[in-house]
Amino acid sequence: MTTITQVRARVFEWHGPTVPPAEHFCTNAIDIVRSDGDRMGSFRFHAWTVVEIETDDGLVGLGNVALAPSVAKLIVDRYLAPLIIGSDPLDTEHLWQKMYRATHAWGRKGIGMAAISAVDIALWDLKGKILGQPVFKLLGGRTKTRIPCYASKLYAGPIDAIQREAQSYIDQGFTAMKMRFGYGPADGPQGMRRNLDSVAAVREVIGPDVDLMLECYMGWTLDYARRMLPKLERFEPRWLEEPVIADEIDSYAALAKLTHIPISGGEHEFTVHGFRQLLERQAIGVIQYDTNRVGGITAAQKINALAEAFGIPVIPHAGQMHNYHLTMASLASPMAEYFPPHDVEVGNELFYFLFEGDPLAEGGWLDLRDDVPGFGLTLSTRHQESFHVIE
Ligand code: MG
Repeated sequence: MTTITQVRARVFEWHGPTVPPAEHFCTNAIDIVRSDGDRMGSFRFHAWTVVEIETDDGLVGLGNVALAPSVAKLIVDRYLAPLIIGSDPLDTEHLWQKMYRATHAWGRKGIGMAAISAVDIALWDLKGKILGQPVFKLLGGRTKTRIPCYASKLYAGPIDAIQREAQSYIDQGFTAMKMRFGYGPADGPQGMRRNLDSVAAVREVIGPDVDLMLECYMGWTLDYARRMLPKLERFEPRWLEEPVIADEIDSYAALAKLTHIPISGGEHEFTVHGFRQLLERQAIGVIQYDTNRVGGITAAQKINALAEAFGIPVIPHAGQMHNYHLTMASLASPMAEYFPPHDVEVGNELFYFLFEGDPLAEGGWLDLRDDVPGFGLTLSTRHQESFHVIE
């Protein structure tokens, strides 16, 4: 039996150059709170927690989490590592339940589950390395020859700039892309018009035959979304993403009834229990868990099964291998989100700087290698000098 001997959580803080996001580049949940502070603070992910799990035969599994990194590290160090050291890393379901139930008083959702996710991802990476298989081969194998993906950026900004950016994705062969709204309830009718002008401008460039997704990042209210949705229908978006905060499940359900535009969400929901609620209440038409928040591969697999039964597609939040491997292995998951690599901005893209091995899209498609065990990632040394590492 292979045995876990060591669990190491480190925070990698980016201190390299960043592109400052423009004012109103994306709505977010804090927008409607009166504040003189940094409205974009909740939108910055410039540090990540990397979890490495080592076994007695010298293999290392790699996992990561991007939410509240120093807290995630503390949770792994203090609570999760002692629960799994000495165990067989192949016992992923057992270890997940142990972590979930031992931390249940405070860990079910949010950062507790995000920390469990990072450990679970590292365990699945180890499982692949022990068995000599890529993770997707352990989950159901290749359900697609390649994974279709959509370009996800298009932050709100000057019309000519977003049109140029949209055109660049068309030029690269993407047939789907996602844009962000810059304005919400605090910005009045003028903001509403600007939102609509932006969508019209992108649709004009990409034409009718390209999927266009619209992202609110929880920056709207039920009332605002109710007023916007009828005006958005003529642009035929593939979905409207997270119009309101994650806890307003009834608002999601109300919006889903109001429009034929699918309402997507789940980027801030956790475990099969959270998604059961969303699905039973017919709150979302697209599931967007992120494997490194939702409970890792162990939890995401169960949600995929649930999604299949409900006939709701799973298109995980963010790029990254832990999401791609699940998408490759499940028919419930038709497509992947893809962050085009670029300089560090929001921090979404920091994984390209932290790791080696993430595939780059070609003509709107991604592929995974059959010959690399685990998730196929290693820690990068290319940007070492730009990271401050907290052990
Ligand atoms: Mg989103």
